[in-house]
Amino acid sequence: MTRVYNFSAGPAALPEPVLRQAAEEMLDWQGSGMSVMEMSHRGREFMSIHAEAMHLLRELLAVPPDYKVLFMQGGAIAENAIVPMNLLRGFTGADYIDTGEWSKRSIEEAGKYCTVNVAASSRDSGYTSIPPRESWKLDPNAAYVHICANETIGGVEYHFTPDVGDVPLVADVSSNILSRPLDVSKYGLIYGGAQKNIGPAGLTIVIVREDLLGRSLPITPSAFDYGQQAAADSMLNTPPTYAIYIAGLVFKWIQAQGGLAAMEAHNRAKAALLYDYLDSQDFYSAPVDKDCRSLMNVPFRLRDATLDGAFLEGAQARGLVQLKGHRVVGGMRASIYNAMPLEGVQALVAYMREFAARHG
Ligand SMILES: *Cc1c(COP(=O)(O)O)cnc(C)c1O
Repeated sequence: MTRVYNFSAGPAALPEPVLRQAAEEMLDWQGSGMSVMEMSHRGREFMSIHAEAMHLLRELLAVPPDYKVLFMQGGAIAENAIVPMNLLRGFTGADYIDTGEWSKRSIEEAGKYCTVNVAASSRDSGYTSIPPRESWKLDPNAAYVHICANETIGGVEYHFTPDVGDVPLVADVSSNILSRPLDVSKYGLIYGGAQKNIGPAGLTIVIVREDLLGRSLPITPSAFDYGQQAAADSMLNTPPTYAIYIAGLVFKWIQAQGGLAAMEAHNRAKAALLYDYLDSQDFYSAPVDKDCRSLMNVPFRLRDATLDGAFLEGAQARGLVQLKGHRVVGGMRASIYNAMPLEGVQALVAYMREFAARHG
């Protein structure tokens, strides 16, 4: 068996020890005689898996006691609608910061439910920067302020938590959750799909401050109502049981690595290796401003785009896969989430050097 270095933006690579344990437990989870997939979500075994995953996630992120952690379904794109439906009662509008493709998607969807005020946008710079906080034109009557903490496609990440006063800050953290410590208390709500940095697609994490529950519009479907899901311990509908089980194993793996501080050190080392190389030559270029470069998704371009195909083919032949950039940005993108080992990035940089020497 050969495993590749998988630079996919998502669904993405998972830690190998997690996959091995899941394989071992596939037919018989801890003497239950069943696969986790076959268990009742209300049975004793699965309830313990669910509770343990919740507990570990709260511990890793040091979630304050006045926040609820919800395990939902639908992914971040569903949350683009679920968030406004849950927070708009008594309000007419919300503020959005536009920093790229995922912000744009959030803005479009929210527009179905409320008046969206785009309080700042980096569109004019080609989405390679984050508008400075001083330039944001926030509405004091907004229901919330929405940001995308890490633009997975453009490779733009917030390296600060914006102060937005008393209006709740809402963040899409799909592609950088658990990559480093996060001060949950600075947010009203964070959400993200699991398939970037946590586990299989199908699980959506929502962490919401309790005082924001009970603000949902009457049209909100019960399964997507934060207050109802919180009251039902995320079991109002059948939760994505297998995805929760794998997420729990990933949480345990992160804890064994030393928690989020250790993840941050590991992720900074990998990102520095790649960005330092990109900045040291002119065969490749990195488009994003230095102060907001993503630690998770590193877009880069070849000076001569006619070599893109050859670059990708050569990479594939070495087991460096899924490096093609998103179609709206073009070029290349290396996604280097928690599960990507340093050796994977070292192998990528070695290949990039060789390719540049051959074609430069
Ligand atoms: C992947 C991603 C999404 C879309 O997630 P789905 O699970 O497909 O709904 C939204 N926002 C960000 C930041 C993402 O990385």
